[in-house]
Amino acid sequence: MSITPVTTSLIPASPNGGLHAKPYALVFQDNSETTEIERHERQHQTQALTVRLVEHAQSSETTLTIESQHSVVELPPELGRATKTKRLKIEHNYQLRALPETIGFLQDRLEELSLSYNCLPVLPAALTDLHLLKVLNLSNNRLRYLPSDIDRLRHLEDLDVQCNYLTAFPPEIIYLRKMKRLQVHNNPWVDEEDQPPQPFIPPDSQVACTLCKNPYAAAVTPRVVMNFVDIAGNKSLPVAYFVCSDKCQKMVSEIVNSESTNFSRLMYEETEDVY
Ligand SMILES: [Zn+2]
Repeated sequence: MSITPVTTSLIPASPNGGLHAKPYALVFQDNSETTEIERHERQHQTQALTVRLVEHAQSSETTLTIESQHSVVELPPELGRATKTKRLKIEHNYQLRALPETIGFLQDRLEELSLSYNCLPVLPAALTDLHLLKVLNLSNNRLRYLPSDIDRLRHLEDLDVQCNYLTAFPPEIIYLRKMKRLQVHNNPWVDEEDQPPQPFIPPDSQVACTLCKNPYAAAVTPRVVMNFVDIAGNKSLPVAYFVCSDKCQKMVSEIVNSESTNFSRLMYEETEDVY
């Protein structure tokens, strides 16, 4: 059985027809025979990958590369066994939409992680457990927001978020004090001229009021206060604060207007492990 002509149909087109669109992507889309082959191929690739991950865990290899698994939608939890890995590349898996939370088990060694050219709409919550990370490449995915606890990656020096659907950074980006290189191109960032600014609001479960830290009530839409900051050579990057009430909105606005760095102190005065 030849799979080669089929794999081209597995490259997803972008919902916006933009960043990931491939003109030849949908040729076999409605062919039910292809769907059956796809399913078989997906199962086959996932099983083979699981075997590889188990083997890798038993070796002393510190680099792990998972690439061009064109049928795989979700990586198997055995990824979490690769605890000796210092450099992990998960790239060019064009249907890959989810990583297992077991990726957090790599926290004692992992320093470089590339997730470039996958199809990830969200990151696993455990990603920010990888506290030794110095290099994180998230470019060419479908991310609409970054984790609000991204400041847990306190050793991060090099962050690439190019070619996603990001509209603003979480305020915590300012705490990544070691950041030397930040690549941001090809995202629909809110800019300073936008009136009113319209950043993507992360799902409620990801968001509590930036100021008072209270989770939102179900029916409440967060109010947005934008700030624009210079980070690692980038000018006026948008940072979005989501607040719960008139009172919090007013306080955030006043502080942002006076000086954004003061705001960072205020936000984190109750947490001791940030600096
Ligand atoms: Zn509040």
